[in-house]
Amino acid sequence: MAIEHIVIVGGGTAGWMAAAALSRLRAGRPVSITLIESEQIGTVGVGEATIPPFVDFNRLLEIDEREMMSCVQGSFKLGIQFVNWGRIGDSYIHPFGNYGYEMDGISFHHVWHRYHVAGDNRPIQLFNMETMAAHFGRFARTADYQRDDLPPVNYAYHIDAGRYARFLRTYAEQRGVVRREGKVGDVAIDGETGFVTSVTLDDATIIAGDLFIDCSGFRGLLIEQALHTGYEDWSHYLPCDRAVALPCLREDGSPPLPYTRATAHSAGWQWQVPLQHRNGNGHVYCSSFMADDTALDILVGNIAGKPAADPNWLRFVTGRRKKFWNKNVVALGLAAGFMEPLESTSIHLINTGINKLIALLSLDGVTPVQEAAFNRLTGKEYARIRDFLILHYKSTARDDSDFWNHCRTMAVPDSLVEKIELFRHNGQIFREDDELFTETSWAAVMMGQGIAMQGHNAMADSLPEPTTRQEYDAIEQSIQYVVQHMPSHADYLSRYCPAAA
Ligand code: FAD
Repeated sequence: MAIEHIVIVGGGTAGWMAAAALSRLRAGRPVSITLIESEQIGTVGVGEATIPPFVDFNRLLEIDEREMMSCVQGSFKLGIQFVNWGRIGDSYIHPFGNYGYEMDGISFHHVWHRYHVAGDNRPIQLFNMETMAAHFGRFARTADYQRDDLPPVNYAYHIDAGRYARFLRTYAEQRGVVRREGKVGDVAIDGETGFVTSVTLDDATIIAGDLFIDCSGFRGLLIEQALHTGYEDWSHYLPCDRAVALPCLREDGSPPLPYTRATAHSAGWQWQVPLQHRNGNGHVYCSSFMADDTALDILVGNIAGKPAADPNWLRFVTGRRKKFWNKNVVALGLAAGFMEPLESTSIHLINTGINKLIALLSLDGVTPVQEAAFNRLTGKEYARIRDFLILHYKSTARDDSDFWNHCRTMAVPDSLVEKIELFRHNGQIFREDDELFTETSWAAVMMGQGIAMQGHNAMADSLPEPTTRQEYDAIEQSIQYVVQHMPSHADYLSRYCPAAA
């Protein structure tokens, strides 16, 4: 059956991202797109830190970066700082860009290790522009300087989630998406095909569709409540199951940091996401090891200023739907699954879900082959991200609480055990299944958590001297030069995209 009517249920970040991206279909084919959302139910109200592919998502939609950033009171993000994860007092940055660059096909961290064992004490962080700019609170986009000897600056955004959804709503409505306010009560299913045929709102309006995108949040109104798809629970690997969010004003007058901060506490961790006008904060914790009021006390005691809202309490079960695409329903966002925001991957998974949907979608109808491909590819993506998140918990030396003792000694997937052992042995990192995280990502977190390389790729020893050494030194000097000439992040924001009134 041809797809003429697409219905999106949910108007949070997932719903409006899907609506904005799909609205572009309408330029080619007469397809109607309706988005249903309920102000009474509201959105999850969190989700403000992103990663670099999100910049591309906005670019593909031809969104003006300055206008969007100004509207969402956004700031730039060069990576994530992890505090107290390996041990209390430790801190490292997982940067978005690479360490140096490949030399004769050898990843930079092998070359670094070669010189390191030979007595060169320079930390690898000196060879990463994003880390150094973050350290000095500076920011510039590649477009703002011209140097052939350095890779581009990789960045993402910190956004006010509510404002971003409203921004995309305007974008999508201007391109013909129709918004319906109302609460979905009933979902009708065809007895023969098992396809969803329509949803009924509380005012009895029936909205029929050929393809349904379930962006209804944790409840998974269509994918779970109507189609009973099932859920794979991963809380044995990632045991945190609650969060409390509490934005605050930055009363100490400190400038917005160009990175997200994730500070580990005794049974979880706290995020700090700096926007231009406030900080987003929250404490993700494990309810088996910490009571709710303790979690809130810890959060309140570790934020920069007066709370700007009431605490927002959230409960979740880490995991994924057994199918992300079932019959004619595709789940995106929290309806598809949830992994804690430690590496800001949820909005990214919405983005890649939309990309895959658009690539697979044929308006001639839904086929089982499309469904199978979408589910297989998305499943791999989720699993690789899951392993990366587990790494932060498993590879800790912390023994100051029952929670960390549990995480340090828990069983983890074989795929992760292999990754850690290969890295420890000679720094080898294999990226699998087009996984999101780069070699630098894995190396940064493994080293940051205290997993030391015991050797390196033997080919690194065969790189010629003195040219390799000269190039190696030049990378550090070029990074130093560029970072010294970058403006402060605060100045950059006030010139490039000052928050709209
Ligand atoms: P929601 O925001 O819950 O939206 C659901 C929509 O469905 C709402 O519009 C609601 O009104 C509608 N709806 C529900 N039921 C009905 C009904 N019956 N009828 C009509 N409408 C209905 N992601 C990141 O990438 N970075 C982060 O830093 C980050 N931090 C997070 C922190 C926490 C604690 C949590 C829980 C999540 C975080 N996320 C983060 C994830 C991110 O918040 C979500 O991926 C994102 O907001 C998308 O949510 P959503 O649109 O799927 O769901």
